[in-house]
Amino acid sequence: MADTTGLIELPEIEAQKQEKVFKLWKPKRVVFNAETLELPYGKQLLQRIDDLRLKIDISKNNRVTGLKGKTEKETYQIAKSTMAIVVAPPSAFRLRPIPPSADWQFHLAEGCPAHCQYCYLAGSLSGPPAIRVFANLPDILENVKNYIDPTRFTTFEASCYTDPLSLEHLTGGLAQTISFFGGLGNVQLRFVTKFDAVDSLLPLDHNGNTRARISLNASSVARKLESGTPNIASRIKALRKLALPKAEGGGGYPVGVVLAPIMPIPNWKEEYTDLLNQLETSINFSCDLTFELITHRFTPGSKDILLKWYPNTTLEMDESLRIVKKNKFGGTKYVYPKEMMKELKEFFYQEISRRFPKADILYWT
Ligand code: SF4
Repeated sequence: MADTTGLIELPEIEAQKQEKVFKLWKPKRVVFNAETLELPYGKQLLQRIDDLRLKIDISKNNRVTGLKGKTEKETYQIAKSTMAIVVAPPSAFRLRPIPPSADWQFHLAEGCPAHCQYCYLAGSLSGPPAIRVFANLPDILENVKNYIDPTRFTTFEASCYTDPLSLEHLTGGLAQTISFFGGLGNVQLRFVTKFDAVDSLLPLDHNGNTRARISLNASSVARKLESGTPNIASRIKALRKLALPKAEGGGGYPVGVVLAPIMPIPNWKEEYTDLLNQLETSINFSCDLTFELITHRFTPGSKDILLKWYPNTTLEMDESLRIVKKNKFGGTKYVYPKEMMKELKEFFYQEISRRFPKADILYWT
């Protein structure tokens, strides 16, 4: 079967046969805080949302209200179908480091419309999980310049509090961010997504300054635990589009695969082998590719919130099967025991290096 995205032929694989079009998220309600309508990007957002004929409310007191339901479940449902357009507070301009992913993190938005039952946002954001988009994005981007170290390459992560591509059809903020970084020197923007609507990103002048990463997992993990996201085959196809040279119809981006969260599910070797085989078949051309490998972990706080959001989850969060790891601030997280970690790590390093000898594995955690 000919590949319509370019000259590099993609063999017919199971991934393509299973492909189905993923429906982009539409919030039931978009709340603009009144002050955002004074800002140029806020005005642009209002125009976009109005063009999409979504329900718009203006909040005069700059507070997003109406998120509380009668039960936890109802609150979750209301919040996850609400998008608020707000002004990021002054704290958003004091960037924090985010090792090992990047030197600094900054945020285009907070929250995500998907429903991953292990979602790391449960441990990092508080309150009902509404999606908040920052209308002062141009100021946030200008502020990034203050954190560039002129003596070395500086990296910035934009996916700590959101999946930026999940909102792109509504905001256009990721494209603005990529173009902004394209005009800077000695920097890298890094984002990661589980979404596949990458076409609007392909023509951008990124100047090689953005590493576009796709988050992947074993198919059964995606199917059971990542509701509201495109399937693995579609994500791999999106990765291929991002990585293909522009002359071949792609985006020509440096790309990455974030394998997360890695879990020793039953048949994990077979399942992850199948995933890596699909990747190998699809990324069958030379490109700048990296891997980041992140095993599943949870904290007492994130477990508590996730069990409220997903009371029937099949996600294993059993402390007796884990060991405790303390962070430098004394916080507790539960990770897999040493022997299991060793076995997993050896498997992934071996299988990735064999298939992608030129790709860097950036870290294992
Ligand atoms: Fe959370 Fe990422 Fe899933 Fe969104 S896609 S729900 S941010 S894990």
